[in-house]
Amino acid sequence: MEAKKPRPEIQQVREFEAAKRVCGFDEVVLGFTQEQADKEALRCLQCKNPACISGCPVGIDIKKFIYQVTQKDYKGAYFTIREKNDFPSICGRICPAEYQCRKACILTKKGSSFAAPEAINVHFLERFVGDYGMNNDLEVSSEESSNLAKFKVAVVGSGPAGICCAGELARRGVKVVVFEGLHKTGGVLRYGIPPFRLPRNILDFEIDYLKKMGVEFIPNFIIGKVKTLDELFKEGFSAIFLGLGAGTPSFLGAQGENLCNIYSANEFLTRVNLMSAYKFPEFHTPVNIGRHVVVIGGGNTAMDAARVALRLQKMNGVASDTTIFYRRTEVEMPARRLEIEHAKEEGVKFRFLVKPEEFIGDEKGFVKKIRCLKCELGEPDSSGRRSPVPIGGSDFESDCDLAVIAVGLKANQILTKVTPQLKTDKYGDLVVNPETMETSVGGVFAGGDIVGGEGTVIEAMGMAKKASSAIINYLKKK
Ligand code: FAD
Ligand code: SF4
Repeated sequence: MEAKKPRPEIQQVREFEAAKRVCGFDEVVLGFTQEQADKEALRCLQCKNPACISGCPVGIDIKKFIYQVTQKDYKGAYFTIREKNDFPSICGRICPAEYQCRKACILTKKGSSFAAPEAINVHFLERFVGDYGMNNDLEVSSEESSNLAKFKVAVVGSGPAGICCAGELARRGVKVVVFEGLHKTGGVLRYGIPPFRLPRNILDFEIDYLKKMGVEFIPNFIIGKVKTLDELFKEGFSAIFLGLGAGTPSFLGAQGENLCNIYSANEFLTRVNLMSAYKFPEFHTPVNIGRHVVVIGGGNTAMDAARVALRLQKMNGVASDTTIFYRRTEVEMPARRLEIEHAKEEGVKFRFLVKPEEFIGDEKGFVKKIRCLKCELGEPDSSGRRSPVPIGGSDFESDCDLAVIAVGLKANQILTKVTPQLKTDKYGDLVVNPETMETSVGGVFAGGDIVGGEGTVIEAMGMAKKASSAIINYLKKK
């Protein structure tokens, strides 16, 4: 009998070295080579009951596409992924796989809070396959239907939910117009996630692809200000999809929080990523980066803000530091593990179990210090994580000449505030029928962060896909 071949070793993804990458905004993770992808795919056990699939919010047939990679059938693998996910090159770069498919992989012990290192690197394989599709101009065929071609659907918001819904509808022959409030498309993919995690050529490629499919994008157009939903219906749109996102920042409520040089993470990241502050003076929106930057929070947004701040400091060339202040410990941090590791490698400092109480300003009103209380962990709260309990009398002060508050985002309510017929919950999120994603207004559907609050890109796309199927059914009944 032929001896069973040993499974290959875990493949280490290529990365741009930390000391050099912090001096710019080039991509950090460089992905698998073809040889590495083949080897990583061969590590997959091809389980009889592949748990990874249920760990994927859109149910990609992970086992099948990995098998196709083992056969070097990258084209087949690409189309397998595209059955469920329109943007594999994006998701392969930014999906928190360690909390999703990799955590569910059989190679992670049951009950672990995130993926074991030996779990299959599904996301890096997805990225490899997605990039293969992009580089080889693989196109998914459209199902043009003359019946649907007579309909026009408005999509509000060009984030992952909006562009996913637009793509699904356009592929079925529907005429789609995407209205975007900002001057550029992509939502958080453009203004929030820095280019060193998601290079803009990848995002541009996907948006251009939608344009080629006939999707029209209208930037600088805020629905609720320039036009109402009623006006869109009157203009002949048969249905509307709302992918408004959660773009309203939360604040701490700490004393001195409105001193100069204290930013919400959204504003800080928008200035840098969307307005290209890192290319000043070529672009005219500089950030007066401090020597002692404090970022408050423990999620992806905090990690992005800290890594951006550190880069701006390095590009300035003065001795400086960037520190993340988080009120729990590293274990409770909701950010992707990979991003935490990258931040550490790059030199971001961490102070755990600290709660900001006050920002102290100079005579001109600029922040110069932050006063905090130390904390200890108490009983688990509603999130299941142990809650931070401040320790009385443990106050301390730290130098801080620029602070970024990254403690959460809330629903973008520009449209919902002027449309009382749209039912919202106590957080301002849209209430939808979970089967169809239809809102309280007939013919108006929604998905992404505006439904259920801050989530992930793939979750936003999952909701948009569900909504697009419901929109098709709705149009067919018209
Ligand atoms: P958004 O991406 O917010 O897009 C909404 C769009 O709608 C915006 O462009 C907005 O301008 C537009 N809009 C809103 N109201 C109107 C209106 N009335 N008229 C016209 N346009 C309007 N998720 C991950 O999976 N992985 C990550 O690594 C990750 N990192 C993140 C980092 C940061 C800094 C942030 C903020 C989030 C991150 N997330 C990540 C979360 C993820 O980006 C979101 O879950 C996702 O973008 C939600 O998509 P969306 O389409 O619902 O909303
Ligand atoms: Fe492969 Fe893990 Fe999925 Fe099993 S659970 S099929 S090992 S990726």
